[in-house]
Amino acid sequence: METGGGRSFWLETTDTPPVRPRAEGRVPADIAVIGAGFAGLSSAYHIKRLAGGARVVVLEGETVGHGASGRNGGFSMTLFGASLAVTYLLHGLARTREAYEYMVDAVEYVDRLVRDLGLQCDYERSGFLRAATTAGYLKRIRHEMELATRIGLPGVEWWDRDTTQQAVHSPLFLGGWVGAAQRAAAPGQIRAGAAADRRAIRRDRLRTEPRP
Ligand SMILES: Cc1cc2nc3c(=O)[nH]c(=O)nc-3n(C[C@H](O)[C@H](O)[C@H](O)COP(=O)(O)OP(=O)(O)OC[C@H]3O[C@@H](n4cnc5c(N)ncnc54)[C@H](O)[C@@H]3O)c2cc1C
Repeated sequence: METGGGRSFWLETTDTPPVRPRAEGRVPADIAVIGAGFAGLSSAYHIKRLAGGARVVVLEGETVGHGASGRNGGFSMTLFGASLAVTYLLHGLARTREAYEYMVDAVEYVDRLVRDLGLQCDYERSGFLRAATTAGYLKRIRHEMELATRIGLPGVEWWDRDTTQQAVHSPLFLGGWVGAAQRAAAPGQIRAGAAADRRAIRRDRLRTEPRP
């Protein structure tokens, strides 16, 4: 699989560790993780924590964070794929609250990880403003806000037009939903710090043979 693409803004604007040497010959390992994005690095990190003696090798075809993990917006948010309203319609109140609480836990988890590992990634506990500039969008997020209140989601509040405009210094905004549990970080720097054991990251590409 070819991942393609050049270096991202994050990788261009941080002191990235040098490209790891290409893996040569046989690399002994109990567990080989393919891909040094958040998923691969997190898997390797947790496997090492659970089974410290295991030989864990991360094989990456390009550089650490070459994929989406080194190119994303850096937002650690409680929003999930489908909106609250759609999730509520499809799965009901209890499941919607569960999904939201799961996301709050995930944000808190990143918080702890950054702190515990001392990751240098311009991390900010900034909160999150989802602001409307059109009447249609205002109606939509107001509806979501009412739902959030009905479900009893913690940490969200509604800002009216005046409060929003004062906060963002712009007359364009008509109101917004504010979440306390959101964070921002520079993903290129997170991934630079996140490798559990950088010596275990080898540069190699998993070659897949066509099925007979
Ligand atoms: C533009 C953009 C903005 C985003 N913004 C956000 C955001 O603000 N907040 C948020 O939470 N999420 C965001 N996301 C989503 C998030 O970045 C991804 O869900 C996450 O990074 C996926 O991580 P991953 O480890 O699964 O994949 P990747 O980060 O893509 O890692 C896969 C790695 O595997 C390597 N690889 C692939 N094939 C092979 C092979 N055969 N052999 C060896 N190595 C291989 C690749 O080179 C790559 O490094 C965004 C995504 C994009 C694209």
